[in-house]
Amino acid sequence: MAVPTKEEDEDPPISSTSLLSFDTDDCSTSIPPKPPFSSVIFTPLILVTCVSLSTAIIFAYLFFSHSSVSFISHVSRPLQKLKHPVVLLISSDGFRFGYQYKTDTPNIDRLIRNGTEAELGLIPVFPTLTFPNHYAIVTGLYPAYHGIINNIFLDPNIREPFTMASYDPKWWLGEPLWETVVNHGLKAATYFWPGSEVNKGGWTCPESLCKIYNGSVPFEERVDTVLNYFDLPNSEIPSFMTLYFGDPDHQGHKVGPDDPQITEAIARVDGMIGKLIQGLEARGVFEDVNIIMLGDHGMVGTCDKKLIFLEDLARWIKIPKDWIQSYSPLLSIRPPPSYSSKDVVTKMNEGLKSGKVKNGQYLKVYVKEELPDRLHYSESDRIPPIIGLIDEAFKVEQKSSKRNECGGSHGYDNAFFSMRSIFIGHGPKFARGRKVPSFENVQIYNMVTTILNIQGASNNGTSSFPKTILLPSH
Ligand SMILES: [Zn+2]
Repeated sequence: MAVPTKEEDEDPPISSTSLLSFDTDDCSTSIPPKPPFSSVIFTPLILVTCVSLSTAIIFAYLFFSHSSVSFISHVSRPLQKLKHPVVLLISSDGFRFGYQYKTDTPNIDRLIRNGTEAELGLIPVFPTLTFPNHYAIVTGLYPAYHGIINNIFLDPNIREPFTMASYDPKWWLGEPLWETVVNHGLKAATYFWPGSEVNKGGWTCPESLCKIYNGSVPFEERVDTVLNYFDLPNSEIPSFMTLYFGDPDHQGHKVGPDDPQITEAIARVDGMIGKLIQGLEARGVFEDVNIIMLGDHGMVGTCDKKLIFLEDLARWIKIPKDWIQSYSPLLSIRPPPSYSSKDVVTKMNEGLKSGKVKNGQYLKVYVKEELPDRLHYSESDRIPPIIGLIDEAFKVEQKSSKRNECGGSHGYDNAFFSMRSIFIGHGPKFARGRKVPSFENVQIYNMVTTILNIQGASNNGTSSFPKTILLPSH
């Protein structure tokens, strides 16, 4: 169906004020030169007509610009200045769904208003941690298949720890987007993303287009560098770019999701989006770039009163410290081979359910093969044999201590709403003002390869998903 012209226009902002003034002008010009006699009767009539018309037009505009119904969907918009499709993937770490309502976020709002939004947020993969999720986004794989099953872990076959600074390709399975892109002869540029420093396939992390992680680089510098890529000759502008901000995760851990510090961090991230939009507009390419803005996970407030101590299980089974790979919010346990994992799980759950362990009802342990299927968290030797699911906001510790703190955490079951993040797509392939249901972030890989018209590697995303979220080609 034909699309209202306003929907086809470039972003800027058709405010209701401008609509009003336009309508008023329009109506006033249609008023005939007034014969003094009839003006008494006609003027009120004309005024009423004008007001009704204006109202109708305003309502129609509001309806079209906010509606998600399919008749505003149309084909992808042609590129104006760029010669090839470009995807700019932006991550704001720990941007919990709902943070966008904490304060004025005019720039994020603009992307939402003129783009496609997951109405109730983006669903992270389990565990809802930074590295497993960022790498799921760029590979389309669940952590069991892409290999980064935690931020820090031990591989029993490799016998050395993985840390967030492990750049050896042996850890990083699957095919991340930058590799897929360069394998197709296109260019990619990464301004930070877990795994981007790793040489894989045709991707060699070239110095000019790939930054080695350094959290102290000011956000402004990151945005400026990405903008500079658009000053390159058209054929050299990377088809795929990443941009990463470590906020508001940083503040969320310190103070929890409801502190004013989060509000400030959100305003700052919004300011960076504003700087980016302005720079792209100045280069005449804002409407040509497919911007995907998302976060890796959410955040929930935690306080010491919500603790579960493993030493309280000693009556049923002793769990020594050196069996534990991680405590919270993902409890993962690798007992020595002489122990039966099933037996350990049975005894732990017996204790937890007994009513004699403080907060025991808020933790349930599983042999990994018996975890709910929806978590996709068993098919890897790297995943320890016993996994504990901890209730939202609870923490597991070895034993009680005098420490007393409140803050924020993430890593819990991805079914918790607090673990959700945001998804906004803006650009030629995204319908304006469209809302879509929440989806898992493993769907993003296929979405990006579809926008770039390249064949992706096989992955856990659904091949038909891009059709449900992207505008079809002409
Ligand atoms: Zn974090």
